[in-house]
Amino acid sequence: MKKDGKNVIKAPEKRMPDKSIKKEVMFHGIPASPGIAMGLVQILGKEESILEEVKDEKKLAPEDVEKETAIFKDALEKTRTETKVLMTRVKETVGQSDASIFDAQFLILDDKMLLNEVLAGISKKLLSAENAFRQTVSKYIAAISAIEDPYLKERAADIKDVAERLIAHLRGGRKVVLEHLPGPRIVVAKDLTPSDTALLDKENVLAFATESGSKTSHSAILARSIRIPAIVSMNRFYNRLEDGDYLIIDGFLGTAVLNPEKATIELYKQKEKSESRLYDEYLRETQLKSETVDGYRVELAANVENAENLEEIKKFGAAGIGLFRTEYLYMNRDTFPSEEEQFEVYKKVAQSLGGRPAIIRTLDLGGDKLSSLITTHEQNPFLGQRAIRLCLAHPELLKTQMRAILRAGTFGKLRMMFPMVSGVKELDELLRILDEVKMNLQKSNQRFDGSMEIGVMIEIPSAALVAEHLAEKVDFFSIGTNDLVQYTLAVDRNNEQVASLYEPLHPAVLALIGMTVRAANKHGIWVGVCGESGGDPLCIPLLVGLGVKELSMSPISIGQTRRLIRKMSMREAEQLANAALAARDGWETMAISRRYVEQKFPVILHGN
Ligand code: PEP
Ligand code: MG
Repeated sequence: MKKDGKNVIKAPEKRMPDKSIKKEVMFHGIPASPGIAMGLVQILGKEESILEEVKDEKKLAPEDVEKETAIFKDALEKTRTETKVLMTRVKETVGQSDASIFDAQFLILDDKMLLNEVLAGISKKLLSAENAFRQTVSKYIAAISAIEDPYLKERAADIKDVAERLIAHLRGGRKVVLEHLPGPRIVVAKDLTPSDTALLDKENVLAFATESGSKTSHSAILARSIRIPAIVSMNRFYNRLEDGDYLIIDGFLGTAVLNPEKATIELYKQKEKSESRLYDEYLRETQLKSETVDGYRVELAANVENAENLEEIKKFGAAGIGLFRTEYLYMNRDTFPSEEEQFEVYKKVAQSLGGRPAIIRTLDLGGDKLSSLITTHEQNPFLGQRAIRLCLAHPELLKTQMRAILRAGTFGKLRMMFPMVSGVKELDELLRILDEVKMNLQKSNQRFDGSMEIGVMIEIPSAALVAEHLAEKVDFFSIGTNDLVQYTLAVDRNNEQVASLYEPLHPAVLALIGMTVRAANKHGIWVGVCGESGGDPLCIPLLVGLGVKELSMSPISIGQTRRLIRKMSMREAEQLANAALAARDGWETMAISRRYVEQKFPVILHGN
């Protein structure tokens, strides 16, 4: 020790990590869509400040001035609405004083001088809306920042924030990146909304991985539907990656490998090969009956989010469409789809199936499926004005859709299904509106399917509990396990923090499913499952054992499900279901089911 007490022992020199040697790192998340992908990373949402980007200054053609002005006004309006929503949220969560940061933002959005300067930039200097706005607002920000005053410096940051949001609206937000990736990429984001996912540049997106979300989030469901590997709920992942990193995604196991070594890449290539061999085998089995060894038939249907790849459904040997999610027709657009537009889509569905049935579900917007067409802000959107609640509040929306479905029904075999029914009163109102729509179609001499089968989704516990009464009024039930689990266990289906509590095989959920089947049997109607449990190998034996007649799933799962069912017996499945109903928790039921599947078809759980 030195006299002054300071340590003289020299600390070992800190070596800076050599950035050129990148170490292989493995991350774990929840597998959301099967498949292996390898490639470069594209991060969403970490872009440089878009205010400072240099954009080419090509002049507008004079005839485009009007359009560009309209684009600017629209983005301005959207930013105002968004800022109001943000302000309310901050007010509610942290209080009025913090919400006052938005005052400066509104000052900018309402500043006549600034807005006139932007409009003049467009009309006189023939600048694009983005360039005109960027130039003007940058001048303001520079002027305020130049003043040596900490308060004003902060206000400059607030203005920059709102300006960036406005520019994002001018560019269609993240949509630009989502729709136009620079090449084949693995998209990494904190989260992806269903409308983001619907926009993904399918040619170039190899896979995606998000920090939030779960297996039943709609972005995961969409990934399975468009058959891109995906992992969700990747803890502490996003900030460790950069654009251009090399990544492997294993959507079977939910693992991602950053900077893989050669041997690792080889390993995954082998895995990819054996998985695709298995997949080809399934395709060769599509003509085989999906029947247990003791002759219990289970219809295997497909869940579909758009009318683009209907051919695939036949390729996978689906008995039809068990769920057509129509809400995607309402996303990423500025106007509601007209009756004619919807009619054409549903007609295409009906015609493409060659007589096989398709269940068209009426609009289920709300929850995490948002559309800029519906701008209400709710504190608990999953418990709010979602699905038929929204439709009953705006009956014209529902009537237009009903007309389109009923008319398209004459081109094949369509069924209509109502989501989120909580009880008889709502169903009565829906059926009353349906009768009115039919009457009006008749009056105007339009062709429509007057005897179309009508069903309800059982996805709210109250609906399962009053299923006997609902069954008197409809032709079928389809159990939406994604929501039924969420509402029964009070666990947000999208929240990775409570993902371990989201138990599709919780005895309480199984009891509600059993109750629904019994009510349906009593009234001679059939029951399907169209939630993600319908395609989950661990849930299938119990669902079949409980008496479900149809399982609807993403088409890619149909092949393996058919093979599993052909290895099962109904007698055993019923025994399993009875044991599961008597179990104390979801771990027990899961173990019961896992033992059985391990014994019958282990490949479905572990791969080849
Ligand atoms: C469900 O809730 O299980 C379901 C199929 O509907 P969605 O996932 O669209 O809410
Ligand atoms: Mg649902």
